[in-house]
Amino acid sequence: MPASMGNAIHNSVEDLCNLELTGKNDEETGWLPSTAKTVLDQHWQIEHDLFFETPRHPRWKPELITKAHNGLVGALNILFMKAHIPPTQLSQISIGTWRELQEIVLANESTLSSECGRLIGRLDLLISDIQDGKSVGWIVADLKTGNPPKVHLNEKVSRQLRFYRDLLKQNNPDHPPVHAEGWYSANQTVHRADGPSILDDAFEAWGGMKPTEEPLQGTPSNTACAFCEWKAWCPTWWVARRDGELSPGSRFRDEVVRLVRFDEESGAALFERTPPVGDDGELSGSDHRFGAILRGQALEQLRALASSDSDGVLFLGSARVDGKIMHLGDWSEVLPWSPMLRSASQ
Ligand code: SF4
Repeated sequence: MPASMGNAIHNSVEDLCNLELTGKNDEETGWLPSTAKTVLDQHWQIEHDLFFETPRHPRWKPELITKAHNGLVGALNILFMKAHIPPTQLSQISIGTWRELQEIVLANESTLSSECGRLIGRLDLLISDIQDGKSVGWIVADLKTGNPPKVHLNEKVSRQLRFYRDLLKQNNPDHPPVHAEGWYSANQTVHRADGPSILDDAFEAWGGMKPTEEPLQGTPSNTACAFCEWKAWCPTWWVARRDGELSPGSRFRDEVVRLVRFDEESGAALFERTPPVGDDGELSGSDHRFGAILRGQALEQLRALASSDSDGVLFLGSARVDGKIMHLGDWSEVLPWSPMLRSASQ
């Protein structure tokens, strides 16, 4: 959902920056709020449709369109600030003022690629750095719709921004001074990413991503595994749970189980935990059984699995613990447990 909201905001900013204004009167005001709403509504609908085409998705939250709208206004306000247009209501922005703003936008949503084609990045905005009415360089801007940093950009975001900056520089040897910024629409703050080129590190990382016959060694930790999307295919975290290297979690837990009983109507199920034997994905039965109530997406997933031919082991993702009963809903996942022990190409 955060990704859908971010896409809707990004794509709306792009469309508004590219608005075709030929023949419009410079003095006209009052057009921007309704235009911004129409553009956002269109992208919201596109994201909604894509969301439901995605096999693994949680609940769609229609109420977040208000947050998306605020994010779009926040992003536009940063653009006004960069164009040195005084803060004002969107309804007061004239066509002439919007044309001024469009002039500082040199590119938006363009793809950057290294000379060799191995590295690519998607640039949100490239704008002129305007000081005292003159362009003194370029700003690579990446629009962020998530939580703003408390003080400084975290290292990962800084690296991402510098990566775009460095690709842009490589593609444009005669570039003026360039710097990269993260624009946080939620609180309309701008954070600059400075530092040396990171292209050498990026090429090294590219080399490290070549598929190998054996999967990369898992490095489980509570932080890394907590929200990892790969658990249903990763044998390592379940072994780490057995060995006490990972905590089971208190309120939300992941489990690898066999389905013992299931009432498709009520969503009540009885599961048996299947602990690992050895380190390679083999499982055993156990005496540990627990009941669960399934609703929403989790219930649909279990119904589909129960009615398929598969009688295999299941991965339960994000089951909420409530006494002795687990609750699974739109926030959870029920997937076949299918650890990958070899490269998929083998
Ligand atoms: S679940 Fe597996 S792949 Fe994911 S972070 Fe943990 S060890 Fe790594």
